[in-house]
Amino acid sequence: MQRRAVVEDVPVATDHWIGGERVESADRFVDRSPIDEAPIAEVARGTARDVDAAVAAARDAFAGWSATAPKERSELLHRIADRVEARLEELARVETRDNGSLLRSHRRSVMPRVARNLRFFADQLLDLPDERFEQERFVSRTRWEPAGVTAVITPWNAPLMLATWRVAPALAAGDTVVLKPPEWAPLTASLLADLAREAGLPDGVLNVVHGIGEEAGAALAAHPGIDRLAFTGSVETGSLVARAAGANLTPVSLELGGKSPFLVFADADLDAAVRQAVNQYDNAGQVCLAGTRLIVERSIYEVFVERFTAAAAALVQGDPRDEGTDLGPLITREHLERVDGFVRRAEADGARILMGGGPNEEVGGLHYRPTLIADAPTGSEILTKEVFGPVLTIQPFEDEDEAIGLANATDYGLAAIVYTGDRERADRVSARLVAGTVWVNCFFVRDLRAPFGGARRSGIGREGGVYSFDFYADVKNVCSAPWSKED
Ligand code: NAD
Repeated sequence: MQRRAVVEDVPVATDHWIGGERVESADRFVDRSPIDEAPIAEVARGTARDVDAAVAAARDAFAGWSATAPKERSELLHRIADRVEARLEELARVETRDNGSLLRSHRRSVMPRVARNLRFFADQLLDLPDERFEQERFVSRTRWEPAGVTAVITPWNAPLMLATWRVAPALAAGDTVVLKPPEWAPLTASLLADLAREAGLPDGVLNVVHGIGEEAGAALAAHPGIDRLAFTGSVETGSLVARAAGANLTPVSLELGGKSPFLVFADADLDAAVRQAVNQYDNAGQVCLAGTRLIVERSIYEVFVERFTAAAAALVQGDPRDEGTDLGPLITREHLERVDGFVRRAEADGARILMGGGPNEEVGGLHYRPTLIADAPTGSEILTKEVFGPVLTIQPFEDEDEAIGLANATDYGLAAIVYTGDRERADRVSARLVAGTVWVNCFFVRDLRAPFGGARRSGIGREGGVYSFDFYADVKNVCSAPWSKED
């Protein structure tokens, strides 16, 4: 009998999805909602054997799927996107109950982006560059061949959006997929499998193995039967999975953590800069890209702090299902304690808490107050390690050189945000910042054709547009001699 949970009135399968069938697991784990810490599902706890079965199913399905005409694959992805749009409200409600992110964000931006991921790569597939190089009458041509079985491992902070960001280009490229969703928010992965089946995706092309990172995740990363590994998560886990994949020489695409700088020059539009800086608390700070280090020119430092703290004080914390809520809970108690540990150690290191600095006892549960920390000693933990909670630091700078020095003073390099009114300064500073993405006078704007990824320890590889196909496809060069003397 198939196991299901009913979450926000939506039935969700809690077994694995392997080879077009729901597969039970001897063991289960309890999935709790961050909203009230209540158990909401008992989910299959995958083992190495389940991973073997999923990789075998994906391997079996590969011959058929990789031979499908690109147009057919493209249409199928669009059909999955149609179903995402038709069930957008249900997906949004289940995701909010499961990971505590705002329902209004899921409705307005995250779930629409899920559909956009699918549609974008469906279209990009039909528009891949047909490269042709000629040298002394020999012609080299590029072919985008399917690579095989792609393993996808995802985090809990935007599970369905981040799953489709990898699954869509992999399927488009002609690969089959084994997805291991996060144990702290696994449910929408099961719904994705349902939508893919309804859309007509052949059995075994997309498989979902639920489970714990150190168990199912580790078994998948180390599996010799996978041809690509797309991992999104922390630097520490990224390093582990890269080592496991390295043993099999499996190519990896790693999208990891960040500690992004948010630079504000005195010539910036201060209203816009303050508004955007406060947005760094979005998703209770559980955003890889968040500009968590505010670096502000000294001449406007005091006024910036004043205006920022006033604006942040107006943020409403509460149930993420309420339209009026700005900040929901952290994902688990364990994570809340981890976040609080960073703040306590920052204080012990001599930093000053300007705002927040602890759990929000009035709201209770897993709510942590938006926190701003000043005067952290150079090189201290709070300035160099990712917290992944609503905790920002602020540092003053005198000039451009100092701003860039502070901005680049971590091992991360995911993103950087620059607010300035001077176009030439924006160019100069962007060139010197170590980051996969620099946003100038904006944040989070994502053109899916543009490259995305992290510098330094924030990741390996770039995805987006053709960059994604460069990873999920095996790019082949066919070099032909002239066919005749006239060629
Ligand atoms: P995590 O690294 O703990 O877990 C990510 C995934 O890896 C989960 O599915 C987990 O089950 C699995 N996993 C854990 N241990 C594993 C192991 N030994 N082998 C294989 N898989 C294992 O990360 P998280 O806490 O879920 O997510 C937060 C992190 O993700 C943050 O560092 C954040 O910055 C990062 N992130 C990065 C991006 C990006 O695009 N660069 C996007 C979102 C989140």
